[in-house]
Amino acid sequence: MVDRFSREITYLRISVTELCNLRCRYCMPACGVKKKRHADMMSEEEILSAVRAAASLGVRKVRFTGGEPLVKRNIVSICRRAAAVDGIDEVCLTTNATLLPDLALPLREAGVRRVNLSLDTLDADKYAYITRRGRLADFYRGLEAALSAGFEKVKLNTVLIGGFNDDEIVPLAQLTQRYPVDVRFIELMPMYDGGDFGPEAFLPRDRVLEQLPQLERVPADGGVAQLYRLPGAHGCVGLISPVSDHFCADCNRIRLTADGKLKPCLHAPDEISIKGCSEAEMVEKFRLAIERKPPWHGELSAEHRSHAGRNMNEIGG
Ligand code: SAM
Ligand code: SF4
Repeated sequence: MVDRFSREITYLRISVTELCNLRCRYCMPACGVKKKRHADMMSEEEILSAVRAAASLGVRKVRFTGGEPLVKRNIVSICRRAAAVDGIDEVCLTTNATLLPDLALPLREAGVRRVNLSLDTLDADKYAYITRRGRLADFYRGLEAALSAGFEKVKLNTVLIGGFNDDEIVPLAQLTQRYPVDVRFIELMPMYDGGDFGPEAFLPRDRVLEQLPQLERVPADGGVAQLYRLPGAHGCVGLISPVSDHFCADCNRIRLTADGKLKPCLHAPDEISIKGCSEAEMVEKFRLAIERKPPWHGELSAEHRSHAGRNMNEIGG
């Protein structure tokens, strides 16, 4: 379906849970999130109805995210069933990777084609700090499992954080020379409670280009990242700049939260509930949500925080 600004909406991002086994400082509070009533969250059947409803309007790609999608007990079944929906060409997943050692192969066999793994530092102490409870060794075990499982693409997502990982941009980018992965640097988005970080933590994507003058521009792959390559690298370095140079004019996505709210835009407060709807009703709600997509996400900066009204783990980054 095409929205009011001639953008074709083909990509649905579904958060399957707000819960997570980590507590990244820019994403969720130290105490975690208040567990909502099970009955208020989307069931597996409702998630599948939503995928079918979206596919009937032209959605071709689904990404499962969270919170941490791998803490969801039935994630493999959800992925398998979503991959089998008529019209869905691609099922992908964004994860912190720590639970992949047991799940990478079942997910690949269930039809997940691509995975994005989050990694903000190569230093074990800093990893423990930023995630408040994670172990870098668990991430690496997850990465190895993902590489062995044969996903079509493995990408690493790094949030750029001033004073935290600006001194690691070069070694993080060099992971593309060591592994067959893309590394994507993402600008820190000022979500509504701000996490532990103030304005000084924002690093524009140009900081990456300054530190890596040897990067060569390569054609984009249809995603939101500007792509570059280091000499001899297996994968690309991607720059994703929602703050310094937004890509709203090319937005092809719609989001569904774990509690059943369609979000026309990541940073807008507008939400349309589909919890408890029949599949036919969901089709109409998706139509409405696509019609209500705003032209852009509005000003985003330390002074103009996201209007999403939720932290990232409650939306699905
Ligand atoms: N738990 C999974 C993970 O960490 O990959 C999936 C959910 S997480 C919310 C998805 C992505 O959003 C992660 O790559 C995370 O680093 C990113 N993210 C979370 N909060 C963010 C923020 N304030 N600005 C930019 N990216 C953020
Ligand atoms: Fe959990 Fe992912 Fe948020 Fe980190 S970024 S707290 S791993 S949901």
